[in-house]
Amino acid sequence: MALGPQVSDLKETLLASIAEEVVSCQNCKLGATRTKAVPGVGSAHAHICFVGEGPGREEDLSGVPFVGQAGRLLDRMLMAEGLSRRDCYICNIVKCRPANNRVPEPSEVAACSLYLYAQLAIVKPEVICLLGNTALRFFFGEQYSIGQVRGTILVKDEQRFMPTYHPAAALRNPQYVQVIQSDLRKLAALIQRTVD
Ligand code: SF4
Ligand code: URA
Repeated sequence: MALGPQVSDLKETLLASIAEEVVSCQNCKLGATRTKAVPGVGSAHAHICFVGEGPGREEDLSGVPFVGQAGRLLDRMLMAEGLSRRDCYICNIVKCRPANNRVPEPSEVAACSLYLYAQLAIVKPEVICLLGNTALRFFFGEQYSIGQVRGTILVKDEQRFMPTYHPAAALRNPQYVQVIQSDLRKLAALIQRTVD
């Protein structure tokens, strides 16, 4: 009897089944204009999840999050802390690109939120790094701005979060590069303590 692909890992399998739903999803109007949906990438066993806003042009074309200019900057900053995207899980609040990179509308965020909750429930990271205000607001509402709480640990429902500036902000304001870098250093140290 021919066996199907070996199912070696339940968490990977569950993430893959969510990704399968996402790539054919039409639950909001972003589904009509995307090229490819961008479910998420990385390890199902990651200690850190990064959550961005939504796919940009290059992500829409490739189906992979954070592969454009902002993503390449994020990769370089991760490497500087001894992390790689394979050690992390990376996804976005909305899985399809909003035209011209506009901020996703509340109805689009709401329509897509079950996928994100499911991904985070499967990965169960030690800490969720919120990249920018859209990700921060999704979890914490309007009570904080990124400038106030970046680099701090926020706890909600026993889940730790660390907000930092979105790497795209650092492309516009290079002084943010050092700030994000130091926040990533804290994240790496935090993970090191929990893994040891
Ligand atoms: Fe579905 Fe999310 Fe894409 Fe909207 S953004 S079509 S809810 S996957
Ligand atoms: N910006 C985001 O928020 N997410 C991506 O995947 C790429 C750019």
